[in-house]
Amino acid sequence: MSADIAVVVEHLEGVLAEVSFEMLAKGRELAAAGGGMLWAVLIGHGVTRLAGELGAADGVAVVEQEALAHYTPEAYEKAAAAALQALAPRVALVASSSMGLDQAAGLSGTLGWPLCAYCKDVALTDGALTAVSQIYGGKLLATAEVPGEHAICAMLPGAAAAAAGRKSGTPPVREIPPPALDGLRVRFKRLIQPEGGDVDITREGILVSVGRGIGSQDNIAVVKELAEALGGAVSSSRPIVDQGWLPKTRQVGKSGLSVKPKLYLAVGISGAPEHIEGMRGAELIVAINTDPGAPIFDVAHYGVVSDLFDVIPALTEKVKSRA
Ligand SMILES: Cc1cc2nc3c(=O)[nH]c(=O)nc-3n(C[C@H](O)[C@H](O)[C@H](O)COP(=O)(O)OP(=O)(O)OC[C@H]3O[C@@H](n4cnc5c(N)ncnc54)[C@H](O)[C@@H]3O)c2cc1C
Repeated sequence: MSADIAVVVEHLEGVLAEVSFEMLAKGRELAAAGGGMLWAVLIGHGVTRLAGELGAADGVAVVEQEALAHYTPEAYEKAAAAALQALAPRVALVASSSMGLDQAAGLSGTLGWPLCAYCKDVALTDGALTAVSQIYGGKLLATAEVPGEHAICAMLPGAAAAAAGRKSGTPPVREIPPPALDGLRVRFKRLIQPEGGDVDITREGILVSVGRGIGSQDNIAVVKELAEALGGAVSSSRPIVDQGWLPKTRQVGKSGLSVKPKLYLAVGISGAPEHIEGMRGAELIVAINTDPGAPIFDVAHYGVVSDLFDVIPALTEKVKSRA
């Protein structure tokens, strides 16, 4: 049985996704535990140059073809299947992202390998694979012992620290012959970029995140003032976006964005699993909520049980007076 690990690297417009480095970090741990090699699988056209950023891997398996110039689930799944068939790793990691989830189930079907979705962790112990997955939208964690010689694990973004997988270097490149890609039913037409002109909350170091406790759109000015005083940005829970009080680009959570700021100040947010999924990776979580039983306090490092309209203006004053 092979002990190698393969990471199907995700990239868009020539930029490697953060989750790719997270998976390489996790892949390194698995390769060390099983005594195998760590492969990065790179798919696209003109992407071999990205291999220099994948120094955490022992080797980069590249599938290059003109038809892979733009992402389409059908073509990329065929290419990933060809690479995984050639490498036959013990475990293949794909991202639990919109792209990765597009392919993971298809890969599982094509290769006949079991798939563990929504993985928060995977471990190899004496060759046996265990995966910890989120189920019921993150309300429960399930630990599964995965049978068979090969498996696919779809890793949730944030499941490992990207820093450990971010290493420059020149791992040897193995070219994998591309599969036949004629007669594809899914064709790339154009890339529609997300709404421009707004801040990218995934890159902000400080987020003041507002929930339904804010009461009305006009009150958002109160948290905005604090965010500005702290040098951060305003983000929110889903109901705030659903009501049109903030744009979708500010939504944190399962159907929004995953954020990992240094400080996440959750203001009037209850802490539903779908929200927590997007912010639990923050370095420091501070929650302000009138309800001492609010689930947000289960993940917060510091909690204030109080009315946000008492705390936020006072905090803003304090921050401003120190500036
Ligand atoms: C498939 C699916 C995907 C979803 N995706 C997301 C997602 O991406 N992101 C997301 O956030 N949600 C998502 N949701 C919705 C999620 O389940 C919750 O409904 C939502 O997160 C609740 O938002 P909230 O905490 O702002 O509101 P509420 O749950 O209504 O909480 C408001 C909180 O404010 C507190 N409060 C009230 N007044 C004050 C005050 N004056 N001062 C201080 N505290 C006060 C209350 O005690 C309460 O805890 C999703 C749901 C589903 C089904």
